[in-house]
Parts: sequence; structure tokens; C-alpha cells
Amino acid sequence: MNKQLNKQGFARYKLNFTNYLRKASIQMNKISIAVHGGAGTILRSSMTDALQKEYENGLSEAINKGYELMAAGGSSLDAVAVAVASLEDFPLFNAGKGAVFNNEGKHEMDAAIMFGKTLEAGAVCGVSNIKNPVLLAKEVMLHSGHVLLSGAGAEKFAKLRGIAFEDDAYFYNEQRYRQWQEALASDVVQLDHTDKKFGTVGAVALDMHGNLAAATSTGGLTNKKFGRVGDSPLPGAGTYANNETCAISCTGVGELFIRSVVAYDISCLMEYKGLSLHEACDIVVQHKLVKIGGEGGLIAIDKNGNIEMPFNSEGMYRACRNSNGRMEVKIYRE
Ligand code: ASP
Repeated sequence: MNKQLNKQGFARYKLNFTNYLRKASIQMNKISIAVHGGAGTILRSSMTDALQKEYENGLSEAINKGYELMAAGGSSLDAVAVAVASLEDFPLFNAGKGAVFNNEGKHEMDAAIMFGKTLEAGAVCGVSNIKNPVLLAKEVMLHSGHVLLSGAGAEKFAKLRGIAFEDDAYFYNEQRYRQWQEALASDVVQLDHTDKKFGTVGAVALDMHGNLAAATSTGGLTNKKFGRVGDSPLPGAGTYANNETCAISCTGVGELFIRSVVAYDISCLMEYKGLSLHEACDIVVQHKLVKIGGEGGLIAIDKNGNIEMPFNSEGMYRACRNSNGRMEVKIYRE
């Protein structure tokens, strides 16, 4: 009898000790995540309390999904995919369900994902009717043997991989339609979130295994030319992750972010010049981009879990959370 009790007692002790160790190791290893929902001219005057709450809920939900996944031991790669997919399902942001109309009245979406441990990347551009382009980008990375698939080819690959499709009605949004009609009439291409609108989405994360990852997804620019591809799906321009330096996801006028190779430039300033994440982001976002008229911003995390969320526009929908208890959801400048 006594022997039996001792055996049970020891088993319980062992279980508690293992749980303690697991918790301790989770606390010891930093995890960090940041998300964005686009940068641009976001005017307080055109925001209601209820709408602001909606945006904040969308950002919080995404960040918490990614954070919880990593807190349970999951990878940064899965965390950024889950966070971005959540933002894609949220109709107020310009990605997935909320994607803007192009010049032909279609939704052509771009997305990318990158894993900092291996420098593997996957991306899609100009895809239509894909419910979550970021999940397709992840499939491209893991199962296609390529980095970037476009248009009909990417959609064919999506079918082969069992990726979810939605019909045009799923992507239709009255406000977006009006926005496109206005842009069409004045023959302009506009940042979705300029003129009090919404934006591209992205996530960056550092997991407890020390691996960085980044993902970005967008409908691009309202009234963009058919076939136009922005910075979001291009590794090094709008999306980049490297365990030696940082993970970055950008938002802004894609053409200028491509020409500035923004995400890779920040990584290079850290790798070759020894700058901190903060210094590198500051040079690129507040100086180099501004010099050529590149409006926008980005979210970034370095290999030590430091988070930066700089932008040179009026505002940027953004949120971050880390294992030191930092949790922020913001829209405007401080
Ligand atoms: N960077 C995106 C693009 O040019 C737009 C955005 O950030 O909203 O496609």
C-alpha cells in the first residue's frame, strides 16, 4: 500500500516538475510578434469610436492568435501565417476579403512569407479568388520548389494543394467599389488607406527557438494597372527574414519600396554596418524613403526580440506583444 502511494506521489512530483520546467523554459526564451494593417493618411476626424474599436479588435485578434501559437511552442513561421490569415479575413484591411479593386474591377492579390532560419521564401502575385493568399504563399515555399508563382499558375497550384477559394461576391465591398469608381473617374492610382482608407497587412515574429519569420499580404493599390505587382510579395523589398539580423514586413507605395529594396536594406545595414534595428529602420524609413517620396512604414523584430514599428505617414495600424508583457495596439503617431 505504502509502496503504491509512494509510486503515485513520485509520478505526481515528476509531472509537476516537468510542467515547471516547461513553463520556465517558455519564460526564459523570448517571444515577440508585431502586426500591421497598413500605413497612410489616417485622419482622426474621419474615425468614429466604434470604427476605431473594430480596427483595434482586428489587430488584437491577429496578434493574440500568433502569440498564443508561439507560447505553446509553435514556430514563428506558423505564427506569422496565422496572424496574417486572421487579418486577411477581416474586411476592413486591404488583403484577402477586404482586397481593393484594380483598374479592371478585379481583385488581384499579392502575398509572401519568409523563414529566417533557412532563408526559405514563398510568394504569390496577381492571384484572384484565393481566400487566404498568405497560406498559398506558405504552400509555395514548402511544396513548389519555387519562390514566386503568379496569376493563373499560382491558382492552379492552389487547387492542387487544396487551398480554399471564394467567389467574387466574397470579396465585394460597397465602400471599396465606390473608392475604385472615384479613382477610375479621376484616373489615379491610390494607396488604399490614403484618403481615410485601410491597408495591406503583415506580421513579423521571433519564436522561443530563436527563429524569425515575416509575412505580408495585400490587394495592392486601388485602380492599379492589371498585372501590376507591388513590394509585398518580393523577398527583400516588402518582406524579409534572416535569423542573423531581423524580420520585416512593409506597407506603403510599393513602387518606391521596390526601388529602395527596403526590407533587405535594413537587414544589410545591421549585418554589414553593425547598426541596431532602431538605427537601421530610422535611416531607411525616415531618410532614404522620404528622400524619394516613399510614403509608408514597416514592422520589424530583431534576433533579440526588439520591436520597431516606424512610419513616415500620418498613421499606421499596428500592434505588438512580447513575453516581457509588452502589448500595444496603435493607429496614430504618439
Ligand atoms: N505596399 C502595397 C503595394 O504597393 C500597398 C500597401 O501597403 O497598402 O502593393
